Amino acid sequence: MHTISIAKGIVEMKRKTKDFLIAFLLVSGLLLFAGCGKVERYLMTDIAMGTVTNQTIYSRDGDLTLEVRDIILKLEQDELSWRIEGSEVARINAAAGSGVYTSVSERLYQELEILLKLSKDSGGAFDVTIRPVAALWNIDVWAAGENPAAEGNQIPETNPTAEENQTAEEGTFPDGQPPSIIPTQEQITLALTHTGYENLSLTEGTVMLPKDMALDLGAAGKGIACDRIAAYLREQSVYGAVISVGGSVVTIGKKPDGTPWQIGIVNPWDTSSLVGILYLEGENFVSTSGDYERYVEVDGVRYHHILNPATGYPADSGVRSVTILCDSGILSDALSTACFVLGVEEGMALAESYGAEALFIDTEGNISMTDGMKQFFKEK
Ligand code: ADP
Ligand code: MG
Repeated sequence: MHTISIAKGIVEMKRKTKDFLIAFLLVSGLLLFAGCGKVERYLMTDIAMGTVTNQTIYSRDGDLTLEVRDIILKLEQDELSWRIEGSEVARINAAAGSGVYTSVSERLYQELEILLKLSKDSGGAFDVTIRPVAALWNIDVWAAGENPAAEGNQIPETNPTAEENQTAEEGTFPDGQPPSIIPTQEQITLALTHTGYENLSLTEGTVMLPKDMALDLGAAGKGIACDRIAAYLREQSVYGAVISVGGSVVTIGKKPDGTPWQIGIVNPWDTSSLVGILYLEGENFVSTSGDYERYVEVDGVRYHHILNPATGYPADSGVRSVTILCDSGILSDALSTACFVLGVEEGMALAESYGAEALFIDTEGNISMTDGMKQFFKEK
Protein backbone atom coordinates (compact mmCIF):
# COMPACT_ATOMS: atom_id res chain seq x y z
CA MET A 1 0.00 0.00 0.00
CA HIS A 2 2.75 2.41 1.03
CA THR A 3 4.76 1.69 -2.05
CA ILE A 4 1.76 2.46 -4.29
CA SER A 5 1.09 5.81 -2.66
CA ILE A 6 4.78 6.71 -2.79
CA ALA A 7 4.75 5.88 -6.51
CA LYS A 8 1.61 7.97 -7.10
CA GLY A 9 3.06 10.91 -5.24
CA ILE A 10 6.20 10.78 -7.29
CA VAL A 11 4.29 10.67 -10.59
CA GLU A 12 2.22 13.67 -9.58
CA MET A 13 5.36 15.67 -8.83
CA LYS A 14 6.27 15.43 -12.55
CA ARG A 15 9.99 15.21 -12.00
CA LYS A 16 12.62 14.81 -14.71
CA THR A 17 13.36 11.45 -16.31
CA LYS A 18 16.34 10.89 -14.03
CA ASP A 19 14.18 11.36 -10.97
CA PHE A 20 11.64 8.92 -12.35
CA LEU A 21 14.37 6.36 -12.82
CA ILE A 22 15.54 6.76 -9.24
CA ALA A 23 11.95 6.50 -7.97
CA PHE A 24 11.33 3.43 -10.10
CA LEU A 25 14.41 1.70 -8.72
CA LEU A 26 13.44 2.63 -5.19
CA VAL A 27 9.89 1.27 -5.55
CA SER A 28 10.96 -1.96 -7.21
CA GLY A 29 13.56 -2.37 -4.49
CA LEU A 30 10.86 -2.07 -1.85
CA LEU A 31 8.61 -4.56 -3.65
CA LEU A 32 11.49 -7.00 -4.00
CA PHE A 33 12.20 -6.62 -0.32
CA ALA A 34 8.52 -7.25 0.55
CA GLY A 35 8.46 -10.33 -1.72
CA CYS A 36 11.44 -11.87 0.04
CA GLY A 37 10.28 -10.95 3.53
CA LYS A 38 10.05 -13.51 6.25
CA VAL A 39 6.77 -15.44 6.56
CA GLU A 40 5.19 -14.41 9.84
CA ARG A 41 2.30 -16.08 11.64
CA TYR A 42 -0.68 -13.94 12.66
CA LEU A 43 -3.42 -15.20 15.00
CA MET A 44 -6.83 -13.88 15.94
CA THR A 45 -9.80 -15.24 17.87
CA ASP A 46 -13.02 -13.28 17.71
CA ILE A 47 -16.79 -13.47 17.86
CA ALA A 48 -18.77 -13.01 14.64
CA MET A 49 -21.94 -14.50 13.15
CA GLY A 50 -22.94 -15.55 16.65
CA THR A 51 -19.98 -17.89 16.88
CA VAL A 52 -16.25 -18.10 17.53
CA THR A 53 -13.88 -17.37 14.67
CA ASN A 54 -10.24 -18.43 14.70
CA GLN A 55 -7.62 -17.25 12.26
CA THR A 56 -4.08 -18.43 11.63
CA ILE A 57 -2.53 -16.60 8.68
CA TYR A 58 1.02 -17.05 7.40
CA SER A 59 1.93 -13.93 5.47
CA ARG A 60 4.93 -12.08 4.09
CA ASP A 61 2.94 -8.88 3.73
CA GLY A 62 1.90 -8.12 7.27
CA ASP A 63 -1.18 -8.85 9.35
CA LEU A 64 -4.37 -9.50 7.37
CA THR A 65 -6.49 -10.75 10.27
CA LEU A 66 -8.33 -7.45 10.74
CA GLU A 67 -9.29 -7.39 7.06
CA VAL A 68 -10.59 -10.97 7.30
CA ARG A 69 -12.56 -10.07 10.41
CA ASP A 70 -14.14 -7.15 8.53
CA ILE A 71 -15.15 -9.42 5.65
CA ILE A 72 -17.10 -11.64 8.06
CA LEU A 73 -18.72 -8.73 9.92
CA LYS A 74 -19.67 -6.94 6.70
CA LEU A 75 -21.11 -10.11 5.18
CA GLU A 76 -23.30 -10.62 8.22
CA GLN A 77 -24.37 -6.98 8.45
CA ASP A 78 -24.95 -6.15 4.78
CA GLU A 79 -26.14 -9.45 3.40
CA LEU A 80 -26.96 -12.49 5.51
CA SER A 81 -28.41 -11.52 8.87
CA TRP A 82 -32.18 -11.65 9.16
CA ARG A 83 -31.82 -9.73 12.44
CA ILE A 84 -30.04 -6.68 11.07
CA GLU A 85 -32.47 -4.26 9.46
CA GLY A 86 -31.34 -3.28 5.99
CA SER A 87 -29.33 -6.44 5.28
CA GLU A 88 -30.28 -8.09 2.00
CA VAL A 89 -31.92 -11.08 3.71
CA ALA A 90 -33.82 -8.80 6.11
CA ARG A 91 -35.11 -6.76 3.15
CA ILE A 92 -36.30 -9.92 1.39
CA ASN A 93 -38.03 -11.12 4.58
CA ALA A 94 -39.63 -7.71 5.22
CA ALA A 95 -41.11 -7.75 1.71
CA ALA A 96 -42.65 -11.24 2.11
CA GLY A 97 -46.32 -11.17 1.13
CA SER A 98 -46.17 -7.68 -0.36
CA GLY A 99 -45.77 -8.94 -3.90
CA VAL A 100 -42.61 -6.86 -4.23
CA TYR A 101 -39.63 -8.51 -5.93
CA THR A 102 -36.53 -7.52 -3.97
CA SER A 103 -33.38 -6.89 -6.02
CA VAL A 104 -30.29 -8.41 -4.47
CA SER A 105 -26.56 -8.40 -5.20
CA GLU A 106 -25.35 -10.78 -7.87
CA ARG A 107 -23.32 -12.75 -5.32
CA LEU A 108 -26.22 -13.31 -2.95
CA TYR A 109 -28.50 -14.19 -5.85
CA GLN A 110 -26.06 -16.89 -6.99
CA GLU A 111 -25.76 -18.19 -3.45
CA LEU A 112 -29.55 -18.39 -3.12
CA GLU A 113 -29.68 -20.32 -6.39
CA ILE A 114 -27.18 -22.82 -4.96
CA LEU A 115 -29.21 -23.17 -1.74
CA LEU A 116 -32.52 -23.53 -3.59
CA LYS A 117 -30.99 -26.25 -5.76
CA LEU A 118 -29.67 -28.05 -2.66
CA SER A 119 -33.10 -27.74 -1.05
CA LYS A 120 -34.53 -29.57 -4.09
CA ASP A 121 -31.69 -32.09 -4.42
CA SER A 122 -31.97 -33.04 -0.75
CA GLY A 123 -35.74 -33.56 -1.05
CA GLY A 124 -36.26 -30.70 1.40
CA ALA A 125 -33.91 -32.04 4.12
CA PHE A 126 -32.20 -28.70 3.67
CA ASP A 127 -34.73 -25.88 3.49
CA VAL A 128 -33.59 -22.31 3.08
CA THR A 129 -37.06 -21.14 4.26
CA ILE A 130 -36.88 -22.86 7.68
CA ARG A 131 -36.96 -19.55 9.62
CA PRO A 132 -40.57 -19.66 10.97
CA VAL A 133 -39.91 -23.09 12.53
CA ALA A 134 -36.39 -22.18 13.71
CA ALA A 135 -37.87 -19.08 15.38
CA LEU A 136 -40.31 -21.25 17.36
CA TRP A 137 -37.50 -23.35 18.73
CA ASN A 138 -35.85 -20.26 20.17
CA ILE A 139 -32.61 -21.41 18.65
CA ASP A 140 -31.26 -17.88 18.68
CA VAL A 141 -31.62 -17.63 22.45
CA TRP A 142 -29.58 -20.80 22.74
CA ALA A 143 -27.03 -19.37 20.35
CA ALA A 144 -26.82 -16.13 22.34
CA GLY A 145 -26.17 -18.17 25.45
CA GLU A 146 -23.36 -19.89 23.62
CA ASN A 147 -21.76 -16.60 22.65
CA PRO A 148 -19.07 -15.59 25.15
CA ALA A 149 -19.44 -11.92 24.11
CA ALA A 150 -23.05 -11.99 25.31
CA GLU A 151 -21.77 -13.05 28.71
CA GLY A 152 -19.31 -10.17 28.81
CA ASN A 153 -16.41 -12.60 28.84
CA GLN A 154 -13.03 -11.47 27.65
CA ILE A 155 -12.12 -12.68 24.23
CA PRO A 156 -8.60 -14.10 24.10
CA GLU A 157 -6.32 -12.36 21.62
CA THR A 158 -4.94 -15.53 20.16
CA ASN A 159 -5.80 -19.15 20.07
CA PRO A 160 -3.00 -21.52 19.13
CA THR A 161 -5.38 -24.47 18.93
CA ALA A 162 -7.39 -22.86 16.11
CA GLU A 163 -5.89 -25.16 13.57
CA GLU A 164 -6.32 -28.29 15.61
CA ASN A 165 -9.84 -27.94 16.81
CA GLN A 166 -13.13 -27.00 15.31
CA THR A 167 -15.07 -25.04 17.90
CA ALA A 168 -17.41 -26.95 20.13
CA GLU A 169 -19.07 -24.62 22.58
CA GLU A 170 -21.42 -26.14 25.12
CA GLY A 171 -24.78 -24.47 25.67
CA THR A 172 -24.99 -21.90 28.45
CA PHE A 173 -27.85 -19.48 28.77
CA PRO A 174 -27.96 -15.72 29.41
CA ASP A 175 -30.25 -16.04 32.43
CA GLY A 176 -28.72 -19.32 33.57
CA GLN A 177 -31.86 -21.17 32.54
CA PRO A 178 -32.58 -23.08 29.36
CA PRO A 179 -35.73 -21.99 27.51
CA SER A 180 -38.51 -23.78 29.34
CA ILE A 181 -41.06 -23.80 26.57
CA ILE A 182 -40.81 -26.46 23.93
CA PRO A 183 -43.18 -25.46 21.12
CA THR A 184 -46.48 -27.31 20.92
CA GLN A 185 -47.41 -29.56 18.02
CA GLU A 186 -50.05 -26.98 16.99
CA GLN A 187 -47.46 -24.20 16.84
CA ILE A 188 -45.13 -26.39 14.82
CA THR A 189 -47.87 -27.47 12.42
CA LEU A 190 -48.82 -23.83 11.84
CA ALA A 191 -45.20 -22.70 11.38
CA LEU A 192 -44.64 -25.51 8.87
CA THR A 193 -47.36 -24.02 6.66
CA HIS A 194 -45.10 -20.96 6.39
CA THR A 195 -42.06 -22.91 5.19
CA GLY A 196 -41.29 -24.63 1.89
CA TYR A 197 -38.50 -23.77 -0.55
CA GLU A 198 -40.91 -24.44 -3.46
CA ASN A 199 -42.51 -21.09 -2.67
CA LEU A 200 -39.29 -19.10 -2.92
CA SER A 201 -39.06 -17.40 -6.29
CA LEU A 202 -35.78 -16.33 -7.78
CA THR A 203 -36.09 -14.43 -11.06
CA GLU A 204 -33.60 -12.25 -12.85
CA GLY A 205 -31.71 -11.05 -9.81
CA THR A 206 -34.81 -10.60 -7.66
CA VAL A 207 -36.25 -12.60 -4.78
CA MET A 208 -39.84 -12.98 -3.63
CA LEU A 209 -41.49 -14.79 -0.74
CA PRO A 210 -45.16 -15.30 0.11
CA LYS A 211 -46.71 -13.89 3.28
CA ASP A 212 -45.30 -15.07 6.63
CA MET A 213 -42.35 -16.82 5.02
CA ALA A 214 -38.73 -15.92 5.70
CA LEU A 215 -35.24 -16.94 4.65
CA ASP A 216 -32.75 -18.43 7.11
CA LEU A 217 -29.15 -18.73 5.94
CA GLY A 218 -27.92 -19.95 9.32
CA ALA A 219 -26.96 -23.33 7.92
CA ALA A 220 -24.83 -21.89 5.11
CA GLY A 221 -23.65 -18.44 6.25
CA LYS A 222 -20.43 -19.58 7.86
CA GLY A 223 -19.50 -21.49 4.74
CA ILE A 224 -20.30 -18.43 2.63
CA ALA A 225 -17.94 -16.47 4.90
CA CYS A 226 -15.22 -19.05 4.19
CA ASP A 227 -15.76 -18.58 0.44
CA ARG A 228 -15.42 -14.81 0.74
CA ILE A 229 -12.29 -15.12 2.90
CA ALA A 230 -10.70 -17.54 0.45
CA ALA A 231 -11.38 -15.15 -2.46
CA TYR A 232 -9.77 -12.29 -0.54
CA LEU A 233 -6.70 -14.22 0.62
CA ARG A 234 -6.10 -15.65 -2.87
CA GLU A 235 -5.99 -12.09 -4.16
CA GLN A 236 -3.43 -11.18 -1.48
CA SER A 237 -1.25 -14.16 -2.49
CA VAL A 238 -1.13 -15.14 1.14
CA TYR A 239 1.43 -17.87 1.94
CA GLY A 240 -1.03 -20.01 3.90
CA ALA A 241 -4.03 -19.74 6.22
CA VAL A 242 -6.50 -21.78 8.21
CA ILE A 243 -9.62 -19.97 9.34
CA SER A 244 -12.65 -21.30 11.15
CA VAL A 245 -16.02 -19.58 11.38
CA GLY A 246 -17.93 -21.73 13.88
CA GLY A 247 -18.09 -25.23 12.43
CA SER A 248 -16.85 -24.18 8.98
CA VAL A 249 -13.15 -24.09 8.13
CA VAL A 250 -11.15 -22.99 5.12
CA THR A 251 -7.51 -23.82 4.45
CA ILE A 252 -5.44 -21.99 1.83
CA GLY A 253 -1.88 -22.40 0.62
CA LYS A 254 0.80 -24.02 2.71
CA LYS A 255 2.25 -24.11 6.17
CA PRO A 256 5.80 -22.76 6.27
CA ASP A 257 7.09 -26.02 7.76
CA GLY A 258 5.60 -28.01 4.86
CA THR A 259 3.36 -30.19 7.04
CA PRO A 260 -0.34 -30.62 6.12
CA TRP A 261 -3.19 -28.63 7.65
CA GLN A 262 -4.85 -30.53 10.49
CA ILE A 263 -8.58 -30.25 11.12
CA GLY A 264 -9.84 -32.01 14.24
CA ILE A 265 -13.11 -33.95 14.24
CA VAL A 266 -14.77 -33.45 17.62
CA ASN A 267 -15.96 -36.39 19.71
CA PRO A 268 -19.70 -35.72 20.17
CA TRP A 269 -19.67 -37.51 23.56
CA ASP A 270 -16.74 -35.49 24.87
CA THR A 271 -16.36 -32.25 22.96
CA SER A 272 -12.98 -31.53 24.55
CA SER A 273 -11.51 -34.49 22.67
CA LEU A 274 -11.20 -35.50 19.03
CA VAL A 275 -12.16 -38.76 17.30
CA GLY A 276 -9.62 -38.09 14.59
CA ILE A 277 -7.92 -35.58 12.35
CA LEU A 278 -8.20 -34.65 8.68
CA TYR A 279 -4.79 -34.00 7.10
CA LEU A 280 -5.23 -31.64 4.16
CA GLU A 281 -3.03 -29.88 1.61
CA GLY A 282 -3.79 -26.60 -0.15
CA GLU A 283 -7.27 -25.13 -0.43
CA ASN A 284 -10.14 -26.99 1.25
CA PHE A 285 -13.49 -26.24 2.81
CA VAL A 286 -14.58 -28.37 5.75
CA SER A 287 -17.85 -28.02 7.73
CA THR A 288 -19.24 -30.02 10.60
CA SER A 289 -22.84 -30.06 11.82
CA GLY A 290 -23.30 -31.75 15.18
CA ASP A 291 -26.09 -32.17 17.72
CA TYR A 292 -23.66 -31.00 20.44
CA GLU A 293 -23.11 -27.54 18.96
CA ARG A 294 -26.28 -25.81 20.12
CA TYR A 295 -28.82 -27.63 22.17
CA VAL A 296 -30.89 -27.66 25.31
CA GLU A 297 -31.91 -30.59 27.48
CA VAL A 298 -35.43 -30.54 28.87
CA ASP A 299 -36.64 -33.48 30.97
CA GLY A 300 -33.72 -35.59 29.80
CA VAL A 301 -34.45 -35.00 26.10
CA ARG A 302 -31.85 -33.23 23.97
CA TYR A 303 -33.26 -30.65 21.57
CA HIS A 304 -30.64 -29.41 19.11
CA HIS A 305 -30.57 -26.79 16.38
CA ILE A 306 -30.65 -28.89 13.23
CA LEU A 307 -34.28 -29.27 12.27
CA ASN A 308 -36.03 -31.77 10.08
CA PRO A 309 -38.12 -29.53 7.79
CA ALA A 310 -40.58 -32.41 7.27
CA THR A 311 -41.54 -32.63 10.95
CA GLY A 312 -40.47 -29.28 12.42
CA TYR A 313 -38.59 -31.13 15.20
CA PRO A 314 -34.84 -31.55 15.69
CA ALA A 315 -33.54 -34.06 13.16
CA ASP A 316 -33.41 -37.59 14.49
CA SER A 317 -31.74 -39.58 11.74
CA GLY A 318 -29.35 -41.61 13.86
CA VAL A 319 -26.30 -39.38 13.44
CA ARG A 320 -24.49 -37.16 15.91
CA SER A 321 -22.24 -35.32 13.51
CA VAL A 322 -21.50 -34.95 9.81
CA THR A 323 -18.32 -33.48 8.35
CA ILE A 324 -18.18 -32.45 4.71
CA LEU A 325 -15.00 -31.73 2.74
CA CYS A 326 -15.28 -30.06 -0.66
CA ASP A 327 -14.07 -27.17 -2.80
CA SER A 328 -16.83 -24.73 -1.83
CA GLY A 329 -17.62 -23.19 1.54
CA ILE A 330 -21.33 -22.66 0.96
CA LEU A 331 -21.73 -26.28 -0.16
CA SER A 332 -19.65 -27.78 2.64
CA ASP A 333 -21.77 -25.93 5.22
CA ALA A 334 -25.19 -26.52 3.64
CA LEU A 335 -24.39 -30.15 2.79
CA SER A 336 -23.33 -30.87 6.38
CA THR A 337 -26.76 -29.73 7.56
CA ALA A 338 -28.60 -31.59 4.78
CA CYS A 339 -26.65 -34.81 5.43
CA PHE A 340 -27.30 -34.56 9.17
CA VAL A 341 -31.04 -34.49 8.45
CA LEU A 342 -30.84 -37.32 5.88
CA GLY A 343 -28.72 -39.73 7.95
CA VAL A 344 -25.83 -41.94 6.85
CA GLU A 345 -27.16 -43.73 3.78
CA GLU A 346 -29.04 -40.96 1.99
CA GLY A 347 -26.60 -38.31 3.20
CA MET A 348 -23.65 -40.22 1.76
CA ALA A 349 -25.44 -40.46 -1.62
CA LEU A 350 -26.23 -36.73 -1.62
CA ALA A 351 -22.63 -35.77 -0.76
CA GLU A 352 -21.30 -38.04 -3.52
CA SER A 353 -23.73 -36.56 -6.04
CA TYR A 354 -22.11 -33.18 -5.27
CA GLY A 355 -18.56 -34.59 -5.55
CA ALA A 356 -18.06 -33.90 -1.82
CA GLU A 357 -16.43 -36.13 0.79
CA ALA A 358 -18.40 -36.92 3.94
CA LEU A 359 -17.72 -38.41 7.38
CA PHE A 360 -20.57 -39.46 9.67
CA ILE A 361 -20.51 -40.32 13.37
CA ASP A 362 -23.71 -42.17 14.22
CA THR A 363 -25.48 -42.42 17.57
CA GLU A 364 -23.70 -45.73 18.29
CA GLY A 365 -20.31 -44.08 17.80
CA ASN A 366 -19.64 -45.74 14.43
CA ILE A 367 -17.66 -43.69 11.95
CA SER A 368 -18.44 -44.08 8.26
CA MET A 369 -17.14 -42.09 5.33
CA THR A 370 -16.94 -41.79 1.58
CA ASP A 371 -14.03 -43.65 -0.03
CA GLY A 372 -12.39 -40.36 -0.96
CA MET A 373 -12.38 -39.20 2.67
CA LYS A 374 -10.33 -42.20 3.84
CA GLN A 375 -7.02 -40.86 2.51
CA PHE A 376 -7.38 -37.68 4.63
CA PHE A 377 -8.73 -39.05 7.91
CA LYS A 378 -6.68 -40.61 10.71
CA GLU A 379 -8.54 -41.93 13.73
CA LYS A 380 -7.11 -40.97 17.11
P1 ADP B 1 -24.16 -24.42 12.83
O1 ADP B 1 -24.85 -23.11 12.65
O2 ADP B 1 -23.96 -24.83 14.25
O3 ADP B 1 -22.91 -24.55 12.02
P2 ADP B 1 -25.69 -25.72 10.85
O4 ADP B 1 -24.76 -25.26 9.79
O5 ADP B 1 -26.12 -27.14 10.78
O6 ADP B 1 -25.12 -25.51 12.28
O7 ADP B 1 -26.96 -24.78 10.77
C1 ADP B 1 -27.97 -24.75 11.73
C2 ADP B 1 -28.80 -23.51 11.55
O8 ADP B 1 -29.42 -23.51 10.28
C3 ADP B 1 -29.93 -23.41 12.57
O9 ADP B 1 -29.56 -22.59 13.62
C4 ADP B 1 -31.10 -22.87 11.75
O10 ADP B 1 -31.05 -21.45 11.73
C5 ADP B 1 -30.83 -23.38 10.36
N1 ADP B 1 -31.39 -24.71 10.08
C6 ADP B 1 -31.73 -25.71 10.94
N2 ADP B 1 -32.17 -26.78 10.31
C7 ADP B 1 -32.10 -26.48 8.98
C8 ADP B 1 -32.45 -27.20 7.79
N3 ADP B 1 -32.91 -28.45 7.85
N4 ADP B 1 -32.28 -26.58 6.60
C9 ADP B 1 -31.79 -25.31 6.55
N5 ADP B 1 -31.47 -24.58 7.61
C10 ADP B 1 -31.61 -25.15 8.82
MG1 MG C 1 -24.35 -26.18 7.99
